[in-house]
Amino acid sequence: RGDSAEPVIPFAQPGSLTRVYAVASGKGGVGKSSVTVNLAAALAQRGLSVGVLDADIYGHSVPRMLGTNDQRPTQVERMIMPPVAHDVKVISIAMFTQGNTPVVWRGPMLHRALQQFLADVFWGDLDVLLLDLPPGTGDVAISIAQLIPNAEILVVTTPQPAAAEVAERAGAIALQTRQRIAGVVENMSWLDLPDGSRMELYGSGGGQAVADRLTQAVGANVPLLGQIPITQELREAGDSGIPIVLSDPQDPAAAALLEIADKL
Ligand code: ADP
Repeated sequence: RGDSAEPVIPFAQPGSLTRVYAVASGKGGVGKSSVTVNLAAALAQRGLSVGVLDADIYGHSVPRMLGTNDQRPTQVERMIMPPVAHDVKVISIAMFTQGNTPVVWRGPMLHRALQQFLADVFWGDLDVLLLDLPPGTGDVAISIAQLIPNAEILVVTTPQPAAAEVAERAGAIALQTRQRIAGVVENMSWLDLPDGSRMELYGSGGGQAVADRLTQAVGANVPLLGQIPITQELREAGDSGIPIVLSDPQDPAAAALLEIADKL
């Protein structure tokens, strides 16, 4: 009977043409959501069919960054129709909670919620699905690995050695789950000063270090896909709901993000 069968996740079927990227970080605040929404917007602007699943149950900032804060999914028969912003289909756990109530779901409930978002949302034929994971190596990362084994991991870190170490752990989960690591993105790499110099607020080398160590750990090349500087414009664009790659592609952070999108 249909009701008792496991929900079918289209992206996990053999022959699925959708590339799935799980965006992971060791800790919060490194720019994982900013990277996710900007890559999504950049790929959609190139004509690809793109979806974002905000699975960061503690942080869920994706709806604000894409300007879908007030939108709720609609239901058509058994399918959930996702809001669309900047040509990106968006589903967030935040859309199913009341106001700002924190989500305190435990592992099994989370797993079922993710399964439902993947199976019951009308994503259509996506070229790319980006998953914004919660920071760390938690239940969600494991669930995603089980639900979509072919999901590739994209690791976001800052240049700081301490952040890089935890980012490496988040990436190393791929060893256990046998997922491919698509690469490492270093964010908040420097701040351009008015006199033309660069200020490395968070030190340097973290992204390359994570890429090198993951390359060693998995025995396959894990590239550093790019370094994104700190710009006030990126932060403001995120707050305004229009990703910087769309609102100001000349901005140095936007330019770095567009280059990274080219490599996916
Ligand atoms: P995470 O998803 O890792 O918690 P966010 O993407 O929510 O991180 O970013 C945390 C904060 O830092 C946000 O306010 C965001 O606008 C800001 N931010 C992220 N990357 C940059 C950057 N390159 N330049 C300026 N601000 C940034």
